Amino acid sequence: MSGSSLETPMMRQYRAIKERHPDAILFYRMGDFYEMFLRDAELAAPLLDIALTTRDKGREDPVPMCGVPVHSADAHLRRLTELGHRVAICEQVEDARSAGRRLVRREVVEVVTPGLLGDPACVAATEEVGLAALFVGAGETGLAVLEASTGDFRATRLETSQALPPLLAEELLRVAPRELLLVEGGDEIAARIAELLPDAALTRVDPVDFDPARAPARPLGLDPAGTDAAQRAAAALLCFLAAHQPFALGQATRLRHYQLSEAMVLDAATRSHLELFESQEDGSRRGTLIERIDWTCTPMGARRMARWVAYPLIDPAAIRARQQAVAWLAESDRLRARVREALGPVRDLERRLAKVARPSATPRDLAALRASLRALPGVVAELETGGSELWGQADASRPASLPHLEAVPEALEALEEGLVEDPPALPRGSRGALETGYILAGHRPELDRLRESARKGREWIAGLEGRERERSGIPNLRVRFHPVHGYSLEVTKAQLARVPAEYERKQTLASVERFTTSELREAEHGVLGARERAAALERELFEALRQETLGHGAAIQRAAEAVSELDGFASLAEVARAGGWVRPEVDAGLGLEIRGGRHPVVEASLRGRGGEDFVPNDTDLDPEAAQLLLLTGPNMSGKSTYLRQVALNALLAQIGSYVPAEAARVGVVDRIFTRVGASDRLARGESTFLVEMRETAEILAQASPRSLVILDEIGRGTATFDGLSIAWAVAEHLHDAPGLRPRTLFATHYHELTDLERIRPRVRNAHFQVREWEDQVIFLRRLAAGGANRSYGIQVARLAGLPEPVVARAREILANLEGGELDAEGQPRLAGSGSTPSPPGRAQLDLFTPSGSAPPLGAAEREVLAALRALDPERTTPLEALAALERWVLRLSEEDPE
Ligand code: ADP
Ligand code: MG
Repeated sequence: MSGSSLETPMMRQYRAIKERHPDAILFYRMGDFYEMFLRDAELAAPLLDIALTTRDKGREDPVPMCGVPVHSADAHLRRLTELGHRVAICEQVEDARSAGRRLVRREVVEVVTPGLLGDPACVAATEEVGLAALFVGAGETGLAVLEASTGDFRATRLETSQALPPLLAEELLRVAPRELLLVEGGDEIAARIAELLPDAALTRVDPVDFDPARAPARPLGLDPAGTDAAQRAAAALLCFLAAHQPFALGQATRLRHYQLSEAMVLDAATRSHLELFESQEDGSRRGTLIERIDWTCTPMGARRMARWVAYPLIDPAAIRARQQAVAWLAESDRLRARVREALGPVRDLERRLAKVARPSATPRDLAALRASLRALPGVVAELETGGSELWGQADASRPASLPHLEAVPEALEALEEGLVEDPPALPRGSRGALETGYILAGHRPELDRLRESARKGREWIAGLEGRERERSGIPNLRVRFHPVHGYSLEVTKAQLARVPAEYERKQTLASVERFTTSELREAEHGVLGARERAAALERELFEALRQETLGHGAAIQRAAEAVSELDGFASLAEVARAGGWVRPEVDAGLGLEIRGGRHPVVEASLRGRGGEDFVPNDTDLDPEAAQLLLLTGPNMSGKSTYLRQVALNALLAQIGSYVPAEAARVGVVDRIFTRVGASDRLARGESTFLVEMRETAEILAQASPRSLVILDEIGRGTATFDGLSIAWAVAEHLHDAPGLRPRTLFATHYHELTDLERIRPRVRNAHFQVREWEDQVIFLRRLAAGGANRSYGIQVARLAGLPEPVVARAREILANLEGGELDAEGQPRLAGSGSTPSPPGRAQLDLFTPSGSAPPLGAAEREVLAALRALDPERTTPLEALAALERWVLRLSEEDPE
């Protein structure tokens, strides 16, 4: 219907475009705004907290609409994609003037999705936004991940009979993609992924997309004839990229294949308990390992460091190669300072390049990239003059990326010759606008000529005012410029009589009239024409410059990667020097020896507060001798800190870092498991005993002889007896299970567990020393051999003022309990007689056995016990019960105690 608001030419265009993007919110460019209409507007307005209005208000079917300014579009894009939406960005692709009275042509230039944010401006500097694809094949599963804002592209596969084996599930959690591509159908795996990654958008794609032969690009490492699951998953990512942001395909220059077995496995629970990236308190970076060791100078370096922490190495040679580079920079303070200074101005080379690859790139984006490229020679020069065998020679132990740290002078040269120093800001996607002035004079003679004639024309016009005043004798005659009406000669009404005959009337306003002359018209034509042609030429030259720069993209990416590594090395070196850390020995053995180890984060925070100093402690773990260290002792004595400190030292060593210790030797760890008793976390209301047990079960199922197992107060989330029994059995299992024997640190408040040392050869007891001094408890934080003094809690109670009789009675009960702990042969009763584990039921009863070996029951006792067993409480009245009790007590007191 012609009267409908939906039938205007613009709405027709809108609806035609929208039809091709039904599952995306359409950002429809109108001048300085992206407008949304109809359902899109109703959906987006509340999400973006912007006003929902209508178009064509007068009509009976007004169109709902809302809009966001182009200059702040990034924040809105980010918000919508974080909520799982896609946004199709539709730009005006021709100049409004060249369209004349016709509707401007518009096209969707990119579709932004949760995993393809695309524009790096939408992403925090240290953040990575992953788009992942999963391919489940016969006997294998493949995972590919693309970080579109840097071009990082990687894939791995696992031979497996399960669709989603635990290792791959852990890897997905580690990657934490924003969006995951899955083949259509496959609902079972989709459900599992949805559970595993509740925040990720799941996108179903056509099965044919998983075919490397059809991939729209051929990055290094993608085999068009490839059929394995990793290649297939990678192909799907490229298809998706081509469909949504084709211009970014050029960024994915290299597909890196990696093996999950190349890196230490860190499951989500361990990452969280060790506070690698997020503090357990508030989820921020405060107090985390990454915050402690990331002293990088560039965002690329920061992202690299995060990768290192997420994927510690397990190949001793690879670890030593990194150490070598860190050592080289740690050894010379001067060199390190100069390298770091040279790195700073490189900024985010990777994302600046990605930004230039976008069609919305502006001259300013090119200039920013140029600034980064300009900084590269300085870095190279520092490395070269910094001497070093490491840099100069082709040393096999040198990290592979460093030799690629080259200046890319060709790319820089082109930009230096083409682009002015400070290009003017242009609005996003303002193709066809008249802005000029970003291409350097002298770059193209034709441009210079056009600019010259425009300038001359303007000069002539500028001189016109004086000339015409003189000629006409009108003292206040003025030359005016109006963006629509162009140049005119303005005369006030009072002076109209003096207007020369050849003036042509152009416009009449309240108090003035505007005129033109044929001369002026001609000059105006010349000026505007020259400007327009200059602008078009500038756009053309800009585009050529952009393409030429992108032609060097692969080299720039390689340089960026090398910079990020160098930045990472220098950061680790700086941290090591500032903290007095040492270079650990890393080998393929199974030992873990640390002299004077400290907790990297706790130490720094104590130092920051200027209070007590961190007390260093040793560690000696060895599967042949001291395999399981059992830590007992009161709350707040330092157990948890110590456990984490050992794990963090091993982890730091394996990322190639120095460690906070006097000396350390680390036999590489293939996996760190960390479990923390539920009660510690119950306080935060996030966990249950069930979670704790599930996590513990995982350890028992997945640990290897190379693993490092950290158990902190497990079994705490349930009643004493079953908690104790579980802790005991888990410790025994870690010690006994054939072919397992992981290095284990076990902190527990169940003092009974110290008895394990008696019956298990590789268990060592240890505790943190505590001293009582003038009614105060002093934590010495010093680790000592042997179990903690178990009456410690009672001492604290006494110090706290519990009445003396209560304290005395507590000591008595404790003595009873302790007395019953060992049997006649000095073996722990809890474990059953001998060294084979006993059923838990028996162990619980044993706790109540009075001190010493139990005397046999007398006749009266046996009688009373039998009567007690025969009694059915359901059928006994309170009076009957009282009477029975009286009888029994009497009977027992009759018995001669002997
Ligand atoms: P536990 O696990 O035994 O209850 P924590 O490990 O939680 O004890 O330690 C309690 C506090 O003691 C920590 O917050 C830390 O500030 C301090 N602490 C722990 N170990 C040390 C140490 N080696 N040197 C100095 N202070 C320490
Ligand atoms: Mg603790």
